[in-house]
Amino acid sequence: MSNPSLLILPGDGIGPEVMTEVRKVIDWYGTKRDMAFDVSEDLVGGSAYDAHGTPLTDATMAKAQEVDAVLLGAVGGPKYDALDFSVKPERGLLRLRKEMDLFANLRPAQCFDALADFSSLKRDVVAGLDIVIVRELTSGIYFGEPRGIIEDGNERVGINTQRYTESEIDRVARNAFELAMRRNRKLCSMEKANVMESGVLWREVVTEVGKDYPEVELSHMYADAGAMQLCRWPKQFDVIVTDNLFGDLLSDAAAMLTGSLGMLPSASLGAPMANGRPKALYEPVHGSAPDIAGQGKANPIACILSFAMALRYSFDAGDEATRLEQAVEKVLADGLRTADLLGEEGAQPVSTAEMGDAIVAALDASL
Ligand code: NAD
Repeated sequence: MSNPSLLILPGDGIGPEVMTEVRKVIDWYGTKRDMAFDVSEDLVGGSAYDAHGTPLTDATMAKAQEVDAVLLGAVGGPKYDALDFSVKPERGLLRLRKEMDLFANLRPAQCFDALADFSSLKRDVVAGLDIVIVRELTSGIYFGEPRGIIEDGNERVGINTQRYTESEIDRVARNAFELAMRRNRKLCSMEKANVMESGVLWREVVTEVGKDYPEVELSHMYADAGAMQLCRWPKQFDVIVTDNLFGDLLSDAAAMLTGSLGMLPSASLGAPMANGRPKALYEPVHGSAPDIAGQGKANPIACILSFAMALRYSFDAGDEATRLEQAVEKVLADGLRTADLLGEEGAQPVSTAEMGDAIVAALDASL
């Protein structure tokens, strides 16, 4: 049997720096766990524009469609701000998401014990937090028609349309139920069924899908109440499923419960391929951080945890994903901090490479 395939797209700014550290982790799995990957690497974003005049070539797009998983660093930077919208670095990422039809965006909010004081909430509210928000990513109000700004009498009107088909709700709900089955079998669906017809349909379809997952405890919450509950006592949740707009807001709010942007991974999943694996793109939540790029200051953990998600969701290696997450937890517990995680004055930060090396050493120690 051939090795699982992985396309790596480091991108711009700190993207290549953090990806260098992920490569160390991938190599470790190849040599120490007999889990070799067929890794190919290509350009995306500004670096692809510099080389080819486009943020994503057709050849790279085709490769992304073939591999078992794509791992992306970050795209963008001030050098590209003046470019035409059609060739901006972000268009490369949007094209990947659209053509791979990645409709389910998984955003974990996991608070490592060593960083609990970093949250703006009290330690006991966030310490040990481990939840996942599943956001519908390819439909809803960001895509619905009609949209635009029109003239109406003597004033202008801004229009966007929230629109969900049953099948769009069904597929993201199934994704969330499957995820809940792998975790604590608890799913909370959030919408605004009290004031939106799309929310009424959302609730009906999720409830219907739930009949196929009787082991999962399903609850429903209005999204505004959900936002409050996330800040009040986030540990009451395990998996949350919600639409594109509410998911955008709720996942950002949940992310900040855990402290730093440099710690947050994500996965975007699509329909299963012929081999049963979902189409998948893994990436840190952060951008290309031009303010610290090239200085060895970037925190590689968000990207390394994105690879852990790939192990879990694309490569059926949940135990190895847990091993990697525990290695991250160990280096943090040992006191290692990149500059973005430094609280106390006078503490010395480690570099991007030192953090990567320490995580590999913790993996070694786990054997
Ligand atoms: P950003 O996430 O790049 O940076 C925000 C702040 O967080 C900066 O101070 C940065 O130094 C810090 N930061 C981010 N990641 C870090 C890490 N791993 N380690 C340490 N510190 C980290 O967001 P921004 O400044 O708004 O955007 C910069 C560029 O990135 C823009 O061109 C934007 O369009 C792009 N961007 C890309 C993505 C993506 O590729 N998915 C996402 C967001 C922004």
